[in-house]
Amino acid sequence: MTLRLSLAALALTSVALPAMAQEINVYSHRQPELIQPLVDAFTAETGIKVNVAFVDNGMAERLTAEGTRSPADLVLTVDIARLTQIVDAGVTQPVTSAVMEANIPAALRDAGNQWFGLTSRARIVYASKDRVADGEVTTYEDLADPKWKGRICIRSGTNDYNVALTAAVLAHHGKEATKAWLEGLKANLAKKPNGGDRDQVKAIAAGECDVAIGNTYYIGQMMNDPEQRPAAETVRIVFPTFTDGGTHLNVSGVALTKAAPNKDNAVKFMEWLSSDAAQAIYAETNSEYPVKPGVKRSDLVASWGEFTPDSMPLTEVAKLRPAALKLIEEVNFDG
Ligand code: FE
Repeated sequence: MTLRLSLAALALTSVALPAMAQEINVYSHRQPELIQPLVDAFTAETGIKVNVAFVDNGMAERLTAEGTRSPADLVLTVDIARLTQIVDAGVTQPVTSAVMEANIPAALRDAGNQWFGLTSRARIVYASKDRVADGEVTTYEDLADPKWKGRICIRSGTNDYNVALTAAVLAHHGKEATKAWLEGLKANLAKKPNGGDRDQVKAIAAGECDVAIGNTYYIGQMMNDPEQRPAAETVRIVFPTFTDGGTHLNVSGVALTKAAPNKDNAVKFMEWLSSDAAQAIYAETNSEYPVKPGVKRSDLVASWGEFTPDSMPLTEVAKLRPAALKLIEEVNFDG
């Protein structure tokens, strides 16, 4: 009897141990260099270890395949479309958090609490300081004007960032006008789309084109890299607007998985990512815009000045993603 009891006690202990391990698991679509400073700061503050697995593609498919056995607690990713994709796949769960509700503006988180924006970035125009006059480009629509013929560089039309921008054009102007815009933009390209946003900056520096479309933070990353800085210094940051709106924004964000084996600590990490400390790391290390009101932008990002974000809800833009991609393929944008 005594032996039986102590065995039972031992069994209880061994069951309790893994639950006491302070660890969470994150599937991240974001770059290791960016996530590490955040992970280190959180672990130093809380003692909770964060294991990060980088998942390049097929996040929703992987979580679906793993089902309830998934070790992942959280997904960290960029682009509203990727966030809504994992929500639509049914592999996330809502989080009710007064902390995140206070830290993150309502427009930058899901109304159903399935995803939360952690940073924002604008998709803007990089313009040659030498060959493009101040005020020469002010709208996205203008980039389809023949006056830019042979002067524009851009990465692949099917890249997430360009699909989101096209979806926003679609939200503003409808199908016919968006198709015409894509055709006009394509006709103005100096060369076939290739590379990433940073490569377009380098192409401007090399004199291959005069303007390019890219995300704000890449200029920050290039300015902080001695080798890439000279190229970045040849371009001016322009915040274009839609003719009937503001500048196109997107987010990076986080979602709690449905399977989350370490839910409580995972929510702690989510909340911490929206805190002043984490938001400052995002601002300084990746030149992104903090979502939490009052957190300082980096000096460089602040030097670019103010802009008016487009008021079209990101969730509306995300819904138009498939239609946008179809148009991009229809005009054979990369061809
Ligand atoms: Fe990026």
